Amino acid sequence: MVIATIVSIILAVTFAILYSLARRNERTYAKYLDKIALSIGEEAGTPPLYVYERLRKKLEELEKRITETERERRNIFTILNNITDPIIIVRGDGVVTFANIAARDITRPGIEGRRVYDIIENYHLLELFERALETGEIQSADVSLVVDAEPRYYDAKVVPIKFDEESERYIIVLHDTTKEKQLDKLRREFISNVSHELRTPLTSIHGYAEALLEDDLSNKELVRKFLNVIESESARMTRLINDLLDLEKLESGDTKFNFAPVEMCQVMDRVYSIVEPLAHDYGVELDMECDEPKVVWGDFDRLVQMVLNLVDNAVKYTSTKESGEKRVIARCYEKEGKIVFEVKDTGPGIPEDAQKRLFERFYRVDKARSRKVGGTGLGLSIVKTIAERHNAIITFESKVGEGTTFRVFFDKYREKQPSKTTSEQKLGN
Ligand code: ADP
Repeated sequence: MVIATIVSIILAVTFAILYSLARRNERTYAKYLDKIALSIGEEAGTPPLYVYERLRKKLEELEKRITETERERRNIFTILNNITDPIIIVRGDGVVTFANIAARDITRPGIEGRRVYDIIENYHLLELFERALETGEIQSADVSLVVDAEPRYYDAKVVPIKFDEESERYIIVLHDTTKEKQLDKLRREFISNVSHELRTPLTSIHGYAEALLEDDLSNKELVRKFLNVIESESARMTRLINDLLDLEKLESGDTKFNFAPVEMCQVMDRVYSIVEPLAHDYGVELDMECDEPKVVWGDFDRLVQMVLNLVDNAVKYTSTKESGEKRVIARCYEKEGKIVFEVKDTGPGIPEDAQKRLFERFYRVDKARSRKVGGTGLGLSIVKTIAERHNAIITFESKVGEGTTFRVFFDKYREKQPSKTTSEQKLGN
């Protein structure tokens, strides 16, 4: 709009001048017309109307180019604003000329026009900027900032850009590495946990094997006792490795889930036949209650694995109780459109402070108790992963000295279930 007005004014003024000149002096008029013609790349003596047309076209092109440049400039700012990494552009004198939306989350409010020292609180980042200013070279470092009272980690870079002798800019770019740092920490913790878990049975095996080698092996009873320890410790290592592999496969999505309608009562029957002999040996009364049909959309084998872990825990931990009733009841029922699998025990219960960590890998409330029953600390992690893959929700309630109840809430299977492939894709298979 503004440009169109300017163009019209220029044209009007040019022709007003030309007109007055024409009136005053024809020769002067011709001279000026030639000058205009030459300035737009035409020859002297070009007819006035032609010069006028060329001049108008040139101004129109100019207007178009200015509009395009302005649009391009706005696009670049929109792009910078939509980049999720914080970006701050600073002049050589330390004044901030631009900060994208992400940068506004990590700086003090009111950025443009203020000095970088006033908006960034991090000493290391400012030092990085100073160094880039001094050396004229790209600077990078790991920095940590507190954002919304939480520590966040960034891979920070300050990139100097020189446009000409007088004008230069420093681009501060921060790449958020918090997630990678957290994953790294988890990985390190995991490796340390696994090493620790494996070292304990290995030390035991090694110790007893060494004792046997040094012995004359005449005491058969002692030899048998030592071999028993070696056997049970190696079985524990095998269990641990199997659980680890299972969990890894489940979490990475490598385990194929064969989704189909599954009758939960059949899952429970299968688990009962596995756990009942153990419950009998441990002196725990085990009851299973289920009236068909209780159908869910799931993978039969994985559901058996999940229910087995829960019932097995209930039986094992209840068996560690010194006295009182030792009973486990597993039920499956329908409630508010959901199929609920429930396992209730009269075991030792789980203290309140331990409850929020229960599903963490390797977490055990009582290490000695878990070891006694052959636990690996991975059972509930496996249970949780299988439940999640079935879109099921798992809850529990527990009171020390009274017992624990775990519940898994499944969507009830309906005839019009998504096709196998669609569902598997949805579940990340
Ligand atoms: P573990 O292999 O040690 O049993 P889990 O992951 O299955 O590992 O369980 C984690 C911890 O939760 C157990 O070590 C135990 O302390 C506690 N726990 C699980 N189920 C029960 C239960 N039914 N009663 C009491 N404690 C339980």
